[in-house]
Amino acid sequence: MATRTEVHDVSRLRWARERIEASASPRQMLDEVVGAVVRNATWRGAECLNLLAPEAPMSPTVRALLSSEVGQRAAEGHIGPEQRWFAGTRHIDEIEALCVELLKEVFHADYADHRLVASMIGNLTVYSAMTEPGDTVMSITQPMGGHSSNRPDGPAGVRGLRVEDVPMDTKELTVDLEAFSEAARRVRPKLVALGASMTLFPFPVQEIAEIIRPWGGRVFFDGAHQLGLIAGGQFQDPLAEGAAVLTGSAGKTFSGPQSGVIAWNDPPLTEPLTTAIFPTLAATHQVNRVAALAAAAAEFLAFGQEYMAQIVRNAQALGASLQTQGIAMLAAHKGFTRTHQVIADVRAHGGGLAVARLLESANIIVNKNLLPTDVPSDWDRPGGLRIGTTEATRWGMQEQEMEVIAGLIADVVFQRRAPEAVRKDVIELRRAFGDLQYCYPLAAGAESAL
Ligand SMILES: *Cc1c(COP(=O)(O)O)cnc(C)c1O
Repeated sequence: MATRTEVHDVSRLRWARERIEASASPRQMLDEVVGAVVRNATWRGAECLNLLAPEAPMSPTVRALLSSEVGQRAAEGHIGPEQRWFAGTRHIDEIEALCVELLKEVFHADYADHRLVASMIGNLTVYSAMTEPGDTVMSITQPMGGHSSNRPDGPAGVRGLRVEDVPMDTKELTVDLEAFSEAARRVRPKLVALGASMTLFPFPVQEIAEIIRPWGGRVFFDGAHQLGLIAGGQFQDPLAEGAAVLTGSAGKTFSGPQSGVIAWNDPPLTEPLTTAIFPTLAATHQVNRVAALAAAAAEFLAFGQEYMAQIVRNAQALGASLQTQGIAMLAAHKGFTRTHQVIADVRAHGGGLAVARLLESANIIVNKNLLPTDVPSDWDRPGGLRIGTTEATRWGMQEQEMEVIAGLIADVVFQRRAPEAVRKDVIELRRAFGDLQYCYPLAAGAESAL
């Protein structure tokens, strides 16, 4: 018999196998599943300070719509009775059309699509529609904040593209335009992917669009993280500045259901992009998620500006307080950040993995992160931490709470107090903020849609 090869932690799989085998019936197996979900809700949902940059709490209406009746309906194809394979989609057409038009409204775009089950798929859509195998694209390396989706190990690689690096200034954490101009003229990229996962400052979209225009090169803005900031008018507006297409994760700062969004203005892109989505990359596209995405967009029109302005102010306050506490923060010389995240250099304290684990034992959830000085092989044990303020902000926390949080983080990092002692303070702080902000109360009918 061939030996099994698992990429997952085998001890966790063994744990699950034992629980399944110890179950007297499938009913008990089901209870095991529900039990794990409830344990997570109690711990992560009610007792942790969730400072993961890619997370955001959804509004009550968005959450309710995620388990609505329509989640069982099949509706592949384009909106309208003649472009669907299935009958019975008259109200689904309404939901999807509302979603598309709300996305256009919130991103000030002429076109948008609602069917991406993930932003990874959005990026694959862009590469499928706008490149041919063998073309050259440029993107940001992972230590500088770039994401695998635009690198050889993600959708760009799957499309068979040659991927060149966008040169970055490791101190300013922005594109080194002079080096970019030189490199771009040499490799003549068809697309340049801007936007990143470690993302503190705006990108020179306009300048780069001009540099690559002579050979028909175009900017693709991967705004996975910044999508909410863009919609809330608190970041650059990539489409207005000359990006041909914008993708993003609906579940990051945008605070909708985890999935993808894509928007563009150029009419000739409509056919290739939308046909790359259907029939190539999305079929049964989860209409419950589409409904939730539409509701998130409507709430963003009402609250997005205020909400996003506060997450940026909170991130700046958190960066300043952590620096005051003695933790080395990136970009201290330029105000730490213009987004929802700050980056700590914790090499002096055992590195990102060790510190993130220690913080987790105090119920403070952050992620280890590569620093510009790291190399890709440092992936498992990078030097930094990425800390985001989206969730804390939506729970109503402001600058004064950021100072408290920085003190709690420093207590753990400098081992001034045992993580268990800090954990008590974290639970107390979390309990003091029970009302989700920047959203409407649960919409009438949303519950009865379940
Ligand atoms: C998170 C992220 C993605 C992938 O988004 P998903 O919605 O998780 O599929 C793509 N690009 C960047 C820059 C990201 O940070």
